[in-house]
Amino acid sequence: MIILGIETSCDETGVALYDTDRGLLNHTLFSQISMHSEYGGVVPELASRDHIRRILPLIRQVLNKAQRELDDINAIAYTKGPGLAGALLVGASVAAALGYALNIPVLGIHHLEGHLLSPLLSTPAPQFPFIALLVSGGHTQLMQVNGVGQYRLLGETVDDAAGEAFDKTAKLLGLGYPGGAALSELAGQGRSGKFKLPRPMLNSGDLNFSFSGLKTAVLTLINKQSMDQQVRADIALAFQEAVVTVLTEKALAALSLTKSNRLVVAGGVGANYHLRKHLTQKAAQTGATVFYPQLEFCTDNGAMIALAGAMRMQANDTTPNDSTGSFTVRARWSLSQSKNDTFNN
Ligand code: ATP
Ligand code: FE
Ligand code: MG
Repeated sequence: MIILGIETSCDETGVALYDTDRGLLNHTLFSQISMHSEYGGVVPELASRDHIRRILPLIRQVLNKAQRELDDINAIAYTKGPGLAGALLVGASVAAALGYALNIPVLGIHHLEGHLLSPLLSTPAPQFPFIALLVSGGHTQLMQVNGVGQYRLLGETVDDAAGEAFDKTAKLLGLGYPGGAALSELAGQGRSGKFKLPRPMLNSGDLNFSFSGLKTAVLTLINKQSMDQQVRADIALAFQEAVVTVLTEKALAALSLTKSNRLVVAGGVGANYHLRKHLTQKAAQTGATVFYPQLEFCTDNGAMIALAGAMRMQANDTTPNDSTGSFTVRARWSLSQSKNDTFNN
């Protein structure tokens, strides 16, 4: 069975073809980052228009590279939400139109389900059940994942997401948007122990997070220092260490609380080298294994949506699109509460 995956929730147009027998056949991505960076953030209207320009050529490209025809596709999975409504509508309408024309099922996938299943694109793939630490630009959550569609929220951020904190702190340090990766690179030149920043909610006794205060602490620090390149790097490192410590400790607490020994890390911040190193070391000390997506599948992509669609199809967890080819998107949508809320059209 071949599934076409389409991701358009934010500023990346992602397309992929996934074969349930052979795995990922091909995938491609167009990032709009350079277009939005001059505004210091994503401009929703520009994002929607660019998805419209890119999506059909990208679908053609993926089919060509995989040496497949439209008729070879057995189902289409698209990101139904959460995300920017206008951007989501581009992927949803293309998926619905293609599904209608080809007379095949169309599945609306939760974007976070895509992220948290993305490590299953790698080998060895984690077995269910596992704990997922989802650290992206818009979310920071710990989830208990018992199987496809079985997600229990254990804790989440009460304010900013980890990626958002990286981006805002990067901005304070004069780095571009989105600045997570650039901040991490700058931190590589930092001297450990030069500055100490708070570890928000480290001892809160629950699995929730808070990152907005950290950004304020960075701002206060910047205002007190005479800044040069070395001090910027030292602050970047202190910030990264604070975030990584809290993420690691809470993830380990989630493993211990649920008596699990498998941890999956997903989302853009999962690309952070320091987080990967620290988490893998700490988890190994407790006998747990950590699974990561390949770096290119940490941030938004079509492959994770195609995979989630394939797993839903295999679990028979789908209802075919109705005969009118109608579709909806959900700009705001909670994954753990989406169980009774159909994932499908
Ligand atoms: P969501 O999935 O919650 O809707 P999103 O799709 O925007 O949000 P992702 O694409 O998963 O989020 O991740 C983007 C985020 O990851 C950005 O905040 C970016 O700064 C951050 N990021 C990417 N690489 C790194 C890195 N190496 N270190 C830290 N943060 C990073
Ligand atoms: Fe995302
Ligand atoms: Mg993104």
